Amino acid sequence: MNRLERELGERFGERLCLNWPLAAFTSFRIGGPADLLLTVETEQDLCFALEAANRNGAPVFCLGAGTNLLVSDRGIRGLVVRLGEGLGGIEIDGCKVAAGAAGELGRLVETVVNRGLEGLEFAEGIPGSVGGGLVMNAGAFGGEMSRVVTRVRGATCAGEMRVLSPEEVGFAYRRTELPPGFTITRVDFELKPSDRELLRRRMLDFRARRAARQPRGVPNAGSIFKNPADGFAGRLLEQAGLKGVRQGNAMFSEQHANFIVNPGGATAAQVRALMETARERVRAMSGIILEPEVRLVGEW
Ligand SMILES: Cc1cc2nc3c(=O)[nH]c(=O)nc-3n(C[C@H](O)[C@H](O)[C@H](O)COP(=O)(O)OP(=O)(O)OC[C@H]3O[C@@H](n4cnc5c(N)ncnc54)[C@H](O)[C@@H]3O)c2cc1C
Repeated sequence: MNRLERELGERFGERLCLNWPLAAFTSFRIGGPADLLLTVETEQDLCFALEAANRNGAPVFCLGAGTNLLVSDRGIRGLVVRLGEGLGGIEIDGCKVAAGAAGELGRLVETVVNRGLEGLEFAEGIPGSVGGGLVMNAGAFGGEMSRVVTRVRGATCAGEMRVLSPEEVGFAYRRTELPPGFTITRVDFELKPSDRELLRRRMLDFRARRAARQPRGVPNAGSIFKNPADGFAGRLLEQAGLKGVRQGNAMFSEQHANFIVNPGGATAAQVRALMETARERVRAMSGIILEPEVRLVGEW
């Protein structure tokens, strides 16, 4: 680690943060420190950091906007990379849209809807970055990223740039099968021309439906569990009596049973224990084993 720290320190100076707490970088407001935290603004800088980490045998984790993560209380060993604003631009050419992975998914939706381009309205209100949305194959209201993505650009774990086809991305329900350690820098979309006002109305409808059913103003990471085949995780959790159930300062939302909220001071260990309790109760009640949608990362 010391060699990596020195190499990165020489190139990035104060942009390299040591032993840096990650709670502020997650929507749960939970998470211990990263050994090394680096924000890169260009693909060249990203490749430099990935190559150095690879050569020094250090693990690398790419942190998006942190809206689908439970970072452990002990934090993340090795290098945590974030993409800065320099990797967040949007370019539009007819129906083809290229979006930097660091950009906000919500800003992308707004931009393309304003241009009268159809296909991304489903993502209205999904927080997070374009890159995180791609990795999670984010979706809602019957739409998902896989339907509109044509190409993905990024860096391999050895620090070499590559372009992947949708087949190579390996889209599945709320996951992808990207090459291990692949860091996305840009996502290309093919959208359809449509009526701007119609798209705006659809977007506002999705926004209102989301606001009516999700907890607001209290830290969370969205749906905790994926929906099982032919069912809804939220319904199973509600039937199993989990609404309002607490573990320390972590609790299942009273409003939506598939959300765990952190009203203040919850630890990752408490959230994880609550998830285990819920899985066990649902399994005992229905025989269904719920799979986490939130990614548990770091040293447990
Ligand atoms: C209130 C709320 C509502 C939500 N609603 C929805 C919803 O309706 N539908 C839905 O699908 N999700 C939903 N989510 C979950 C979350 O917003 C999505 O999964 C989102 O796409 C995650 O993006 P992120 O940038 O925050 O990724 P992160 O949480 O930071 O990371 C998620 C994964 O992506 C990886 N990653 C991130 N960026 C990159 C990159 N550039 N290159 C390589 N790997 C990367 C990370 O390593 C991690 O494995 C919701 C979350 C919240 C808090």
